Amino acid sequence: MNHHQIVEWLRETDPTRLERLWHDADATRRRHVGPEVHLRGLVEVSSYCVRLCGYCGLRAANTKSRRYRMSKAEILDTARQAVALGYGTLVLQSGEDPGITVDWMTDVIRRIKAATPLAVTLSLGERADDELSAWRAAGADRYLLRFETSNRDLYHRIHPPRGDSRRDRMVILETLRRLDYELGSGVMIGIPGQSYDDLARDIEQFAALELDMIGVGPYLPHPDTPLAHLDQRPASADDQTPNDELTTYKVIALTRLVRPEANIPATTALATINGSTGWEQGLSRGANVIMPNLTPAEYRALYDIYPDKVCVHETDADRGQGLRHRIAAIGRTVGVGRGDAPSYVAGRKAAWTERAESDQDTTSTQESGEDSPYCKAKENHGLDD
Ligand code: SAH
Repeated sequence: MNHHQIVEWLRETDPTRLERLWHDADATRRRHVGPEVHLRGLVEVSSYCVRLCGYCGLRAANTKSRRYRMSKAEILDTARQAVALGYGTLVLQSGEDPGITVDWMTDVIRRIKAATPLAVTLSLGERADDELSAWRAAGADRYLLRFETSNRDLYHRIHPPRGDSRRDRMVILETLRRLDYELGSGVMIGIPGQSYDDLARDIEQFAALELDMIGVGPYLPHPDTPLAHLDQRPASADDQTPNDELTTYKVIALTRLVRPEANIPATTALATINGSTGWEQGLSRGANVIMPNLTPAEYRALYDIYPDKVCVHETDADRGQGLRHRIAAIGRTVGVGRGDAPSYVAGRKAAWTERAESDQDTTSTQESGEDSPYCKAKENHGLDD
């Protein structure tokens, strides 16, 4: 699919033609990642943040935001809860919080890995290379860092750099790939100032970065942020992308078509604009992951990245049997095990094959794969799940 075709789909309004897009995305999802819906327990471990992102309610300058940081014991409790609920992954997310030191998080990761079979995904913002490396060595499996928009001007306007450092998210994504994290990123849809061309380029960027996990959701204005009060428009008014449900489904579907083997969630932001069928429609138009919120009730409302987050009012039933029934009702099954993205597993196999071949070239001794990094990876990470 070329750039022009992606833009055409993003602008499409004819319901019959859109049915074709939904059908193709769903068929591609079925063929490449199957019927399973993987559940990832999301734990929002800290709302402290040093950044000044124009869109996010956790921005440092928002004095109305009451801050919290979970204790290690509380995080461990949610990990056990995730296991009890049958989830295979725990996602630890936070603002960019220097109170989360490298040693503190290293210990948290080690303890979760020792006590549970969970895959651990980190989403802690822009951290230093040595921290990312230490956490990978401690057992963290995946990292989520959205690049938010591929339009560089827009990105810098909504995401001012921290102090004098200009750490670029694209560079950090490369570092994460080099560290062999399973790699996740994504964008917001309908950011003021985002054009259809920009959004199409975002989707092309997902493919270029060979992402394993891709999260997209509508931009939801937070009243205590500057972006909510800025009248920022692209050059021509009809070029502004809408931050609505239909555009979100289109981006999910197109993302599945350009990245068939990735894990793609129906996000909380989507469920926030349609609490009754947002998840189901997302899952039927390309998505294969849901991230139920396991943050303890007393903290949940304080992790206020945007208003009226659906999970704030979520009941325990939504996380347990209720969610399983909703998934079964659309003819899907709940994934068991870690649910690694086939793109990541395939990448590791290819890396191993390359390595084995080059070893053979130099030593001509390797006959069995027992000592290969891939076999070790299989033991460590249960890639056959
Ligand atoms: N500090 C971490 C986690 C941020 S929250 C980081 O920056 O990576 C995770 C995602 O929520 C962000 O990447 C952003 O895409 C999304 N988000 C933040 N504010 C939002 C808003 N107002 N509307 C919609 N999505 C938002």
